[in-house]
Amino acid sequence: MSIKAIRGFKDVLPDEIGWWQKVEGIASGILDGFGYKELRVPIVERTELFARSIGEDTDIVEKEMFSFSDRHGDSLTLRPEVTAGAARALIEHNLAADGRPVKFYSVGPNFRYERPQKGRQRQFYQLNVEVYNVAHPYVDAELILLWTRILAGVGLQDIQMHVNSLGCAACRPAYNQKLKDFLKDRLENLCEDCQRRYDTNPLRVLDCKSKTCAETVTEAPLMLDELCPECAEHFELVQKALTSANVSYVVTPRLVRGLDYYTRTVFEAQTGKLGAQNAVGGGGRYDNLVKNLGGPDIPAIGFAMGLERLIMLLSEDQELDSPGPDLFMASLDDAARELAFTFANAIRAQGFRVEMEYTPASLKSRMKRAGKLKADWVFILGPDEISRGQGILRNMGAGTQEDVPLDEAVTKIINRMKKGDAV
Ligand code: AMP
Repeated sequence: MSIKAIRGFKDVLPDEIGWWQKVEGIASGILDGFGYKELRVPIVERTELFARSIGEDTDIVEKEMFSFSDRHGDSLTLRPEVTAGAARALIEHNLAADGRPVKFYSVGPNFRYERPQKGRQRQFYQLNVEVYNVAHPYVDAELILLWTRILAGVGLQDIQMHVNSLGCAACRPAYNQKLKDFLKDRLENLCEDCQRRYDTNPLRVLDCKSKTCAETVTEAPLMLDELCPECAEHFELVQKALTSANVSYVVTPRLVRGLDYYTRTVFEAQTGKLGAQNAVGGGGRYDNLVKNLGGPDIPAIGFAMGLERLIMLLSEDQELDSPGPDLFMASLDDAARELAFTFANAIRAQGFRVEMEYTPASLKSRMKRAGKLKADWVFILGPDEISRGQGILRNMGAGTQEDVPLDEAVTKIINRMKKGDAV
C-alpha cells in the first residue's frame, strides 16, 4: 500500500498554488509600503519557549503541541504560532536596542494537534505581522488598518473587524475576580472546559463556543467597564485613529483571545462563512511578552491570519486567474525538438513563458496540448518545416498563422509576440 499524508497535514498542489502566490504577493507588497521587513524564524524551538510565552494553562500548551525529545533528551516543539519565536529572535539579536519601531512579518507553517475539520488542520500557514517598541495606540490602529488593506487587496468581502480591550496588570486582576464572583454561582451551567478555566483562565469562559456557556455569560461584568484610566484612554485613542483612517470595526466586549500574553487591545477578523471556525485571524497587544521571556521591557503588538481559511473564502467567490504560456513549441519529431529546445531557451531568456514537450507527437496532439495549456502562440516545427527552412507561428486567439524563417526564428517570434496582434 502506498504511504499517505498524515491526518491534518495537507499538500498544496500546483493547481492551487496560484492562490498562495497571489495572497503572499499582495500582502508583502502592502507590508512593504508600511515599512515591514520579513523575518524567518525556525519551525522548531525549545518547548519551554512556548510554555513561557503562550501560557501553561492555554489549550495550545496543555494539549495541542507537537513536542518531542531530540537525541540529547531536550524537549523541542514544532511551533504552534510565530510570535514566541519572533520575540525570542528579537531578544537574542538585540533588535530593539535603539528604541525605534521594529516591524516584522512572516509567512510559514504552524502545528497544532487539534481535531481536523473544515478550516482546521494540524499544519496550517499563517501570515504574522508584529511591531515592537511602540506603545502608542496609533500603532494598534495602523496594524488593523494594514490588515484591512490586505483583506481588501486580495478581494475578500464580508469581513468584520472586532476590537476589544483586555486591560493590563493594573486593572485585569480586579476584573478577573469580579468575573469569578459572577461565575461562582453559575459553575454548574458551564461546560467541563470552562469549569476548569474558572480557576486557570476565567476570561476564556467569555468566548466559549458552547451554547450554555454563552447564555451564562450574557450578564457577566465586562472588562471594558473596568479598565483603568490609562487603558481606557488607550482604547479611546485606538478607536479615534481607526475612525480617522475610515476603518470599519465593531467593539465586541466579550472578545478575548486564547493566548495568555495579550494586554489591552485585542482584535479579530471574522466572517459568517466559515461555520464554527469564524475567525480568519486575530491579534492584539502583548506588552509583557518580551520581558517575560527575559528580554527588555518593551511593548509589542501583532496579528496572525490563517492562510488556508483566507484562501478557502477567496476561492468560493473568485476564479483564479492562471495565465498559460506565451508560446508553446509544437515540435513533431526528434530533429524538430533539437531546434525547438534551442529556440525555447533563447526566448525564455528574454522573459517569455515558453513550454515544450520532449517526445515526438502528431500535430493534432500538440495543438490539443497547446489549447489545454492556454498558450497564446504556437510555433509549429516538423520535418516539412525544417526542409523548407520555415517554421509556422500561430496566433491561437486570432486563429491566424505565418511562416517564420528558421535562421531568424528567435527574433521574429519575439517581435511578433511583443506586437501582440494577429498575423
Ligand atoms: P490564533 O493563533 O489561534 O489566534 O490563530 C490565528 C488564525 O490562524 C486563526 O484565526 C485561523 O485563521 C488560523 N488558525 C489557527 N489554528 C488553525 C488550524 N488548526 N487550522 C487552520 N487555521 C488555523
